[in-house]
Amino acid sequence: MSQSYLSQKLLNMSESATLLMAQKARELGNTGVDVISLSLGEPDFDTPDYIKEAAKKALDDGFTKYTPVPGLMELRQAICAKLKRDNNLNYTPKEIVVSNGAKQCIANTCLALLDEGDEVIIFTPYWVSYFHIVKFAGGKPISLYAGLDQEYKVSPEQLEEALTDKTKLIIFSSPSNPTGSVYSKSEIEALAKVISKRSGLFVIADEIYEYITFEDKNTSIAQFEGMKDKTITINGMSKGFAMTGWRLGYMAAPQWIASACTKVQGQFTSGANAFGQKAAVTALKAPPSDQDYMKEKYKERKKLLKKLLDEIDGIKTNNPEGAFYFFPNIAAFFGRTNGKRIIHNADEFVDILLDEAHVAAVSGTSFGDPNSFRISYATSNERLIEAMARIKKVLGEYK
Ligand code: PMP
Ligand code: GLU
Repeated sequence: MSQSYLSQKLLNMSESATLLMAQKARELGNTGVDVISLSLGEPDFDTPDYIKEAAKKALDDGFTKYTPVPGLMELRQAICAKLKRDNNLNYTPKEIVVSNGAKQCIANTCLALLDEGDEVIIFTPYWVSYFHIVKFAGGKPISLYAGLDQEYKVSPEQLEEALTDKTKLIIFSSPSNPTGSVYSKSEIEALAKVISKRSGLFVIADEIYEYITFEDKNTSIAQFEGMKDKTITINGMSKGFAMTGWRLGYMAAPQWIASACTKVQGQFTSGANAFGQKAAVTALKAPPSDQDYMKEKYKERKKLLKKLLDEIDGIKTNNPEGAFYFFPNIAAFFGRTNGKRIIHNADEFVDILLDEAHVAAVSGTSFGDPNSFRISYATSNERLIEAMARIKKVLGEYK
């Protein structure tokens, strides 16, 4: 079988569960079924016109060639100004690398920093790709779990206890995918105190949902004492600017890490697309409040969904403060049957939702929490209301 020629590294990697479920929903939809897809974490807004116009102008101006591997100087300067304006961080362009999405920034960092057996603590529930990127890069993912009872947020004591001599890297996202939790300023500072004490320990702070917060603003861990030399701040255009298909992300890190990531990227993909980078300059220079209309919509949907989820007996949720996800605990359903099927676990739970309610969501298993499932609410109120009605009806048949 040709499968046997695949590398062990590849065979050890699972397919991205978020992308897989999105594909399944698309396939069912193509057969004529009205599928409501709450699977993919993708803004339902279009990219704002002023950003599209900037890309069109860049094309007309001839930005169609290779760019420097770490990104156009003009964009890296705009990123530095943005980090100063929004995040209280001082960086120079040499400490910035622009990539094909935040995903690539994370992959570059892991490939640049990890040796076989290096331990990487991943705050759990985690975004699906962290785990597999770490493994592919040779690291050993160590899942550090914080449940619903602690708002899905790891405490400094927990972190302290999980650190070993082999821990090299910590990865977390705040606002979090998949839980929507947002670490407060004091919580981030407390984590920083633990991390800053250790030499040879680094942290990937994934802030890609930074503009989507409903209460407090996002806090960057790199701003706290002793943290700038240890932090790789990840961000990008996908979520805050509704630019998922443009494939533009960036990182800010100590120069030696930025240079190492540039080296990796230079061999794998080169600089990100030229006219997109020009449009990103325009986007980052605009006041972040220009995108507030998206945040307001997410906030409204979150409120609506919280109410609808609370009405479904057996579902337990937190009250997310950011991003556009719910990550309900559904353990109460395990063992229930409708007389034909039994729900044994979260994977079967989401299969049943797709088959019987025609609602696509993602099992918590691939986010490191087998008692939960993820809903992305980046869709209209009408579709959310319809989806919850369908889910409630189907689950009501399972006793
Ligand atoms: N980090 C998190 C937490 C995400 O949810 C995503 C999903 N897109 C990414 C990184 C990757 O984003 P990008 O589209 O910029 O690759
Ligand atoms: N980050 C999004 C999600 O979690 C997009 C899909 C992906 O890149 O995995 O659904």
